[in-house]
Amino acid sequence: MQINYDIVIIGAGPAGLSFACSMIGFNTKVLVIEKANIDAISKPNPDGREIALTHLSLGILQKLGVWSLVEQKEVSLLKEAKVFDGGSPSLLNFKSKASGVEALGYLVPNYQLRQALYRRVEQAKNITIMTDVLVEDVTNHESYSDVLLANGKTIVAKLVVAADSRFSNIRRKVGIPAIMKDFSKVMIVTTMRHEKSHNNIALEYFDYGQTLALLPMVGYESSVVLTLDTQNSKAMLNMNEKNFNARMTKDFKDELGKMTQVGERHAYPLIGVHAKTLVAERFALIGDAAVGMHPVTAHGFNLGLRGQDILATLVKEALMHKQDIGSQFLLKRFEKKQIYLSKMMFFGTNGIVALFTNDTPVVKQIRRFVLNFAERFPPIKRLITNHLTEASESTFPTLKKILMNK
Ligand SMILES: Cc1cc2nc3c(=O)[nH]c(=O)nc-3n(C[C@H](O)[C@H](O)[C@H](O)COP(=O)(O)OP(=O)(O)OC[C@H]3O[C@@H](n4cnc5c(N)ncnc54)[C@H](O)[C@@H]3O)c2cc1C
Repeated sequence: MQINYDIVIIGAGPAGLSFACSMIGFNTKVLVIEKANIDAISKPNPDGREIALTHLSLGILQKLGVWSLVEQKEVSLLKEAKVFDGGSPSLLNFKSKASGVEALGYLVPNYQLRQALYRRVEQAKNITIMTDVLVEDVTNHESYSDVLLANGKTIVAKLVVAADSRFSNIRRKVGIPAIMKDFSKVMIVTTMRHEKSHNNIALEYFDYGQTLALLPMVGYESSVVLTLDTQNSKAMLNMNEKNFNARMTKDFKDELGKMTQVGERHAYPLIGVHAKTLVAERFALIGDAAVGMHPVTAHGFNLGLRGQDILATLVKEALMHKQDIGSQFLLKRFEKKQIYLSKMMFFGTNGIVALFTNDTPVVKQIRRFVLNFAERFPPIKRLITNHLTEASESTFPTLKKILMNK
C-alpha cells in the first residue's frame, strides 16, 4: 500500500521536530516517522544534557512558537564563561556585560526542549507523527522519493528530510559519504548541587588528562560535564557517590564549596560526523545527520536549528510561488547556505579539541599563547564571543539576511 505526503521527516529528535514546527500552518502535508515509541517522544526523560542556546536559536524558537512552551523556570542565563588551562594562570574570560547582551546564552534541559517541540507539533493540523516505525530505506527518483518502512509500507513524498542522528543509516543508504572523527573519549554528564552560588558563570578546566566543565543551572545546581579517555570513563561512571562528590569538589578547586550529585550520571561516547554533501535527489540532511559536533563548543543543536530554518525558508518560498519543494535547485541553495558554516564549526571545534586536550609540552605552550593573546586582545575576544553566542549581526551576516527575508 502506498501513502502520499508532501514532506517526510525521518526522526523526531530535536532537529526533525524543529523542521516540522517550521512547516506548521503551511499548505503542505507532512509526516514525521520515528522508530521510538510515543512516550519517548512526548514525555522524554532527563538525559543530563543542558543545551546552551545562542541568541539566534532563541529567536528561531520564539518564531516557531516553541519558546513559550519551554518551562521558563528551568531556563538559566549564562552570563559569564571562564576557560582555564590546567594549573597554569592562563585564563580566558567571556562576559555578557562586555558584549552588551543580557546573557552569553540560555541553558535549557534537553528533555524540556524536546517536550516543548513535541507539544508544538502535536497541535498542528498539517503534521502527522508516526511512532514505533523504523525507516528502512529511501529511494530517490526525479519527481518523488519512496520511503520504505520496516513494516513493509511505502510512503511517497516530494521531499524527504533525514534527521536520524549522527549515525544516520538513511544517509548511508542514500549514498552520502561522511567524515567521522572518533575522539576515543567519553563525556559524562550529571547534575550537582553546591554550597556556593555559581553566579551564572560557566567554568571550563582543560586539565591534563581530563576536561571538566560546569554549566550553571537554576538555583544552587549545575550541570557537570566531564570528558575522559574511554578507558578511564568506566571507573568514573561506577565510582560511588561519596567518592564522586569528593572528587568533583576537589577538581573544581572548591570554587563552589561541597558538591553533591543530584541527577544520574549519563555517558556519551564522543564521535563527530560531517556529511560530505547535505542533499541528494529529493533528499536533505539536517541536524546531527548532517553534522554531529563534539559538544565542547555547545553548537550541535544550534547548528541543526539553523540548518532546518534555512531549508524551511526555501521550502516556504517555493510553496508561495507554487514551485517544486523538492527541486535540485532549491536543495542546492540550502546546501550552499549551510555547508560553509557547518564545516567551519565542525573543523573549528575539532581544532579546539586537538589544541586543548593534547598535553605535549609544545602544544601546551601554543595554547597558553592562544589564551593569553585572546584574553589581552579585545577584538579577538569579541569575535569569539560573537561567534559562540551568535548575538552579533556582523558575525553571521548571511544568516541574519536569510532570517530577515521571511
Ligand atoms: C552531552 C551533550 C551535550 C550537548 N550540549 C549541547 C549544547 O549545549 N548546545 C547544542 O546546541 N547542542 C548540544 N548537544 C548536541 C545536541 O544534543 C544534538 O545536536 C541534538 O540532540 C541532535 O538532534 P537530532 O534531532 O539531529 O538527532 P537525535 O537527537 O539523535 O535524534 C534522531 C532521532 O531519529 C530517530 N531515528 C533514527 N533512525 C531512525 C530511522 N531509521 N527511522 C525512524 N527514526 C529514526 C531516533 O530514534 C531519534 O529520535 C549536546 C550533545 C551532548 C551529547
